[in-house]
Amino acid sequence: MESKLLADYTLEELENLLVEINEPKFRAKQLFEWLNKGIGFDGMKNIPKTLRDSLVKSGYYPQGVEIVKALKSAIDGTKKYLYRLSDGNIIEGVLMKYKYGNTLCVSTQVGCRMNCAFCASGLEGLIRNLSAGEILGQVVAVNRENAVDDERGVTNIVLMGSGEPLDNYDNVCKFLSMVSDERGLNISRRNVSLSTCGLCEKIVRLADDGFSPTMTISLHAPNDEMRKEIMPIAKKYSISDIIKAVKYYFDKTGRRIIFEYSMIAGKNDSEDCARQLANVVKGLSCHINLIPLNYVKERGLDGSSKKNIYRFMAELEKRGVSVTVRRSMGSDIEGACGQLRRKVLKDESN
Ligand code: SAH
Repeated sequence: MESKLLADYTLEELENLLVEINEPKFRAKQLFEWLNKGIGFDGMKNIPKTLRDSLVKSGYYPQGVEIVKALKSAIDGTKKYLYRLSDGNIIEGVLMKYKYGNTLCVSTQVGCRMNCAFCASGLEGLIRNLSAGEILGQVVAVNRENAVDDERGVTNIVLMGSGEPLDNYDNVCKFLSMVSDERGLNISRRNVSLSTCGLCEKIVRLADDGFSPTMTISLHAPNDEMRKEIMPIAKKYSISDIIKAVKYYFDKTGRRIIFEYSMIAGKNDSEDCARQLANVVKGLSCHINLIPLNYVKERGLDGSSKKNIYRFMAELEKRGVSVTVRRSMGSDIEGACGQLRRKVLKDESN
């Protein structure tokens, strides 16, 4: 391990590090526990000052993610976070409260290479990948903040913040292993979802590598022609490539596939689109989430009307497709992907 960010280290990697610097191996477990609680060197009470000082001297630091702003929706209690990374980059996240638990939407990259027609995250392209410890650090920071608030911490995670998780494959896999480590955050593997624009080889590889997050596919169109207009990645992978990959994923993991479909007015929301979509998913063990589009000024696309969304849904239901309309949460606090970050960057430059 070359990283100086200790949150990047698994327990075993911390043990190796301590052995390398001639410190007792058992300290790794203590260090690991503090790191998973988001406690800085000063708060690591059972770790001798000499050890902490020597880590600092060698350039090691515990956390790479700091909350710089937290907004709470007056409508539904959804919280939006703005985090600063150690190199000054800004990312964001959303904590949604449900009866069954608290779901945190986590980012995997600063910016994104995919440039989907409706999304704020791709407006500046990819700035950089997040490390495993920076992905994990978002969960740790939010847990800490909610502990202060005397509320329950994060129970569920969706990799649906900015970035394309499968475009940062190794770090995302390391994150998936670390977040479910019983000795650490111990979030059940069943409670983690990964959302992708559909990088087919990586979907297959994830299953082969033994990971099984709930696979969520951003489909957004019922045919390749329309999908190419909305998502540039559709030029590389066809819908039938995606269906092949998710069938493989389902066979290997036994987990039902989720499709996301953002409803864009006058584009992908006709009854005919619904009929085509029902055909695409025929025979698959899956569920479709219809997402009311969040308006992004730079993109200029309007969301479908409620009436059209429910008409679309009825058309799918008639054909036996399992479908729900996603509740739009936190719309008063720039809830959608990349929106708040954009706003803050703009305010800063003005
Ligand atoms: N790159 C991944 C994950 C990040 S986007 C992916 O493509 O799935 C997470 C989800 O939010 C995707 O389904 C994306 O299409 C959707 N999304 C992005 N911007 C949106 C907007 N303005 N309104 C509604 N949904 C949006």
